[in-house]
Amino acid sequence: MTNVVAFIGLGRMGGPMAANLAAAGHRVLGYDLVPASLSAAAEAGVEVAESALSAAAEADVVITMLPAGRHVLALYQDEGLLAAAKPGTLFVDCSTIDVADARAAHEAAVAAGHRALDAPVSGGVMGAEAGTLTFMAGGGEAEYAQAAPLLSVLGKKAVHCGGPGAGQAAKICNNMILGISMIAVSEAFVLGESLGLSHQALYDVASTASGQCWALTTNCPVPGPVPASPANHGYEPGFAAPLMAKDLGLAANALHAGGIDTGLGLRAAELYAAFAEGRGAGQDFSGIVHALRDAAQAAEPQNGTR
Ligand code: NAD
Repeated sequence: MTNVVAFIGLGRMGGPMAANLAAAGHRVLGYDLVPASLSAAAEAGVEVAESALSAAAEADVVITMLPAGRHVLALYQDEGLLAAAKPGTLFVDCSTIDVADARAAHEAAVAAGHRALDAPVSGGVMGAEAGTLTFMAGGGEAEYAQAAPLLSVLGKKAVHCGGPGAGQAAKICNNMILGISMIAVSEAFVLGESLGLSHQALYDVASTASGQCWALTTNCPVPGPVPASPANHGYEPGFAAPLMAKDLGLAANALHAGGIDTGLGLRAAELYAAFAEGRGAGQDFSGIVHALRDAAQAAEPQNGTR
């Protein structure tokens, strides 16, 4: 079935996602605050709407791909997106936002007579362009079933993780694994360097031993062993350090809200926040190896052997 889809937020992720839906034959009414994003979307077959509200008023499904929870909640409520839509419209928020904000967005949508699904993504801009994203969805079975045909255009895999907010919960848990494991891999390389071990030797062992993980074998933080990794391309993102810092910040918020302390998750959030504010601002998240190496060397005793 061809849906009329309102797509709000046509940035680095939303732009190609909206274009893929249009290419698949859906009528897509797109809106963004940035005129250049509107022009790019129009060239890609998206109908540019006059406003987010006018797009939502015509749609069966409203997809949002916005920077943070405050943008989603402000648009839904204060700016009147929920009020502008036809009763029973499905609101699918693909942004990465706080679990608490996702649950609030669900509640607001349902209170306004609509249906809602949180469906954050993994796969980055390349995945958005190629239509190979992974979706993590939270909401009811019926809502997930309604969104599934659209998600299958935009991605190669979708997992229904549970009720409202479960998609965001899965997203931040996954990225907490990723952030911690990138730090672990980076620290292992720094220790190996101090022990005179070559990067290639450590890679050859760990990549086929129990240290194997995505941060090592796909996004290896040191140049050499994995030719396609950002480390071999000046640490150009890839997955930008500020986005990792954002996601770990969301994980930290959820940890604090739940009154639990995972220790490494909170420490990873601190390390990435500091890195992203400094030299990591324009780098892939694997560039944190430099900050960790500097910190390790600064901590060495003056009569160290290196
Ligand atoms: P982006 O900044 O490129 O795009 C966000 C867009 O939202 C901007 O174009 C902005 O103008 C628009 N916007 C903000 N408020 C709006 C409003 N009220 N009405 C209409 N448009 C509005 O960000 P992005 O990289 O596309 O990321 C979007 C979301 O996807 C974020 O939540 C991010 O965490 C998540 N995400 C990004 C990546 C990635 O690699 N970039 C990967 C996975 C998830």
